[in-house]
Amino acid sequence: MDKVIGIDLGTTNSCLAIFEGGVAQVIPNPEGSRTTPSMVAFTPDGQRLVGSIAKRQAVANPTSTVFATKRMIGRKLKSSEVQRMQMTAPYKIAAADNGDACVVVHGRRYTPQEIGAFVLRQLRESAQEYLDQSVKDAVITVPAYFDDAQRQATRDAGRLAGLNVLRIINEPTAAALAYGIGADAAGTIAVYDLGGGTFDISILEYSQGVFQVKATHGDTFLGGEDIDVRLMDVLIEGFLAETGIDLHSDPVALQRLKDAAERAKVELSTVEETEISLPFLTADASGPRHLRRRLTRDELESICQDLIEATLAHCQDAMQAAGLQPQQITDVLLVGGMTKMPMVQREVARLFQRQPNRSVNPDEAVAVGAAIQGGILAGDVGQVLLLDVVPLSLGLETSGGLMTKLIPRNATVPCSLTEIFTTSEDYQPLVNLHILQGERPLAADNTSLARFELVGIPPALRGVPKIEVTFNIDANGILSVTARDLGTRREQQVRVRATSGLTESAIERMLAEAEQYQDSDRINVELADMRRRIQGLIYTTERSLAESANYLTETELSQIRADLENARRSIDSADLYRIQQVLKELEKSAFRITEVMYKDFA
Ligand code: AMP
Repeated sequence: MDKVIGIDLGTTNSCLAIFEGGVAQVIPNPEGSRTTPSMVAFTPDGQRLVGSIAKRQAVANPTSTVFATKRMIGRKLKSSEVQRMQMTAPYKIAAADNGDACVVVHGRRYTPQEIGAFVLRQLRESAQEYLDQSVKDAVITVPAYFDDAQRQATRDAGRLAGLNVLRIINEPTAAALAYGIGADAAGTIAVYDLGGGTFDISILEYSQGVFQVKATHGDTFLGGEDIDVRLMDVLIEGFLAETGIDLHSDPVALQRLKDAAERAKVELSTVEETEISLPFLTADASGPRHLRRRLTRDELESICQDLIEATLAHCQDAMQAAGLQPQQITDVLLVGGMTKMPMVQREVARLFQRQPNRSVNPDEAVAVGAAIQGGILAGDVGQVLLLDVVPLSLGLETSGGLMTKLIPRNATVPCSLTEIFTTSEDYQPLVNLHILQGERPLAADNTSLARFELVGIPPALRGVPKIEVTFNIDANGILSVTARDLGTRREQQVRVRATSGLTESAIERMLAEAEQYQDSDRINVELADMRRRIQGLIYTTERSLAESANYLTETELSQIRADLENARRSIDSADLYRIQQVLKELEKSAFRITEVMYKDFA
């Protein structure tokens, strides 16, 4: 079987791993980083940038740099989560034709699936480069709390990236695999996963290599970014009080504040105090205004205390759902970048009455587990069977607008359940099936997954026809529903995907576009990178030229000036070869100046 890559498609960062030579290892991206920002930027001249290159230019291009779209995947624009996101995101969020949330950049709409696919394609390319072979098969992880629409949308993102998604697994389950738990003993673990945008707590039982998720709880809208936003608000308020300037309407200042807030938060995991310094943040009639503020770890902890407490409340709910006391948990695993925060480690230890296990890098655990699952599917790892559960109940709308649950929350997948329904009116020729997911008793309060009709029911008094409805959930947690009239044997089946997500034809179109633009996308990324390097080199060469002009000969001076001029003229060229040559020439000039500067010390 071909190589199977494991991908943690994260809200903030994504990570890629592969099972090779008996171990799972993280594949770094071409820049050498082990995680890649889940960010996509669109430049005014039509280039698309992905990953760190997108993050690096985010300050200068805030409205066209898209991040955290995982929070929107498979969700409607009018959902409360997306509405909340709309209030803080610097980019525009709108509705797709089917009401799903999408982003709008330079007048073009992009679904969260497409944005996810841009990131996945980049990871796939990293894997291909690293393994020096074509890669198609993948295991992708999702938060345990994702509903059916969100899982399907994630799988569609994989397809758009040209991947054959063999399996979608829950992030905490993947983490348990990464921690190597369960090979020969039995026990119960809690996986506490606090990342940039989502929080999950899962309680897993294991015995002789079999994992079973007993309960999953969480919040797809709670993570490190909420702490960053809180911290930004504190900085904005302080700045307003000091200068009378409200920074809310300044996108560039907001992006800089966001970066600085995140940096300070990360620093405070290792030091007790840090300084936030943003020179030239804005300007008013009196001239440029700078922001400078000291922040202590204690202050940060009080700013985000209720957010961490909210995660602990979810932990308690999950333990209750699993019918367990903290003492019955044999191991607590930490996953997600935010678990490096000392307060998180402290509070988790307090709640579970034990020190959490931190033997695997929390940024990488999920991807490593996905790679192990890939190894299992490829037949490279034996003896581990993975069982997940349904995160939210699944059922049908029945008379009176109620939801009748067929598969309860936390049922183990894969599973199948059949129930017999009947008509509610005399001579009813068809039944309407409305498939729902959620925990609320009224149909209208739950997520509508799909509607379909079973037609051709022979005339009969109400209550006589017998309609057999089967809900089947595969190992990916993806639902298909079959309805069969037992009298006529007429059958109707849907793979649930009707009210959300991309249509089959939209996926086909996007795949064709991706294929068509693959080469130009790659060239555009290379061009963008090359231009940035040239810009930097022009700047440093000009500076060192000013300082060392006296030590250079006339010929050298005119050669360097000509190279500089050529670089300035060529920077906007779309000819990759030309721009590469220009960079090479300019590098030679820069080296010449450096040689002269240091010749006395040789
Ligand atoms: P993830 O989604 O797992 O990649 O986690 C990303 C989140 O973790 C972001 O909000 C980061 O700011 C945060 N993070 C990463 N490293 C640290 C650290 N050392 N201390 C605190 N937060 C961190």
